[in-house]
Amino acid sequence: MPGNQQTGWGLIGASTIAAEHMISAIRAQQGHDVVAVASSNAQRAQDYAHKHRIAGAYDSVAALLVDPAVQVVYISTTNELHRDQVIAAAAAGKHVLCEKPLALNLDDARQMVRACAEAGVVMATNHHLRNAASHRTIRDLVQRGAIGRPLFARVFHAVYLPPHLQGWRLDKPAAGGGVILDISVHDADTLRFILGAEPVEAVGLSQSAFLAREGLEDGVMAVLRFDNGVLAQIHDAFTTPYAGTGIEIHGDQGSIIGRNVMTQRPVGEVLLRDASGERAIAIEHENLYERGVARFGPASRGHGVPAARGADGLRSLATALAVAEACRTGTSVQVASL
Ligand code: NDP
Repeated sequence: MPGNQQTGWGLIGASTIAAEHMISAIRAQQGHDVVAVASSNAQRAQDYAHKHRIAGAYDSVAALLVDPAVQVVYISTTNELHRDQVIAAAAAGKHVLCEKPLALNLDDARQMVRACAEAGVVMATNHHLRNAASHRTIRDLVQRGAIGRPLFARVFHAVYLPPHLQGWRLDKPAAGGGVILDISVHDADTLRFILGAEPVEAVGLSQSAFLAREGLEDGVMAVLRFDNGVLAQIHDAFTTPYAGTGIEIHGDQGSIIGRNVMTQRPVGEVLLRDASGERAIAIEHENLYERGVARFGPASRGHGVPAARGADGLRSLATALAVAEACRTGTSVQVASL
């Protein structure tokens, strides 16, 4: 794409996340607009397009992909559909921002990354948390040695799934439901980002308390071992309205406490605790999704890389699948190497 050209985004999926966060994030970037939406249902496509002032409404992905106004696609359908849609978009020469989890298994995700590489299009994964000023601050602290050698991490990501999202996540295993594919993937990506290390092993136990059905889990506690020796505990749930979220990184010289930071919103605080006591670290919050789109635009024109690449989505999926298998088998599971 030439540098000063308008970038037209096509939405594959008339989804909640696009309506609540991504359409406005795309439109917040100068020169970027949402120009088309594809739904499996023609009426839903039209209603969605009308509501969000989108020019093109299509009842198939194929129709959206031949719209010359579309240069980039954002894929936010249910998870079992991502693979074929990414591969079709790549074949049509469109750059791809795909939602997490990339797919339901690693072979599919590998195919997606390969298809984009072979087609010469940029592929990114919409892991929003690494765009948060809080997590970037924590990463900087860790990387400049503020806590010495990192030894442990704890992720508190147990939330209550809002009623309007209580659909396929709770009762459709074939769509990639369950809290592990929904939330643990984000934990995995955030920990990789902060620690600059790769998860290699998982143990865990999951729970189906009262929201999830059909064999899906609505809560999980797991421990990951990273290749730098860090042990990370993750706690994810759809069932706990009042738990609060956070992340902690503990080293041999200090600890970082992030409160209210496992969220879609630009909020939360970061504390550093060491021999000099505890202090809040200044953060300039910014919209997480807007920052992700702001990184994607230049990357699609050959400048820099997206905030989270396709390969990052592969790694987070591999980790989540290892957690799921560890919970299923009650054993320690190696995270697949890519
Ligand atoms: P939704 O359930 O809102 O949308 C998924 C699909 O459901 C849509 O593509 C649409 O199909 C169909 N759908 C939507 N509304 C209706 C309706 N009223 N009746 C019938 N079908 C409907 O999912 P989410 O937006 O919550 O999640 C979509 C993707 O985004 C998932 O991959 C999820 O993991 C990811 N996600 C990522 C987040 C992040 O922060 N990175 C946050 C939330 C979700 P069609 O397109 O065919 O109309």
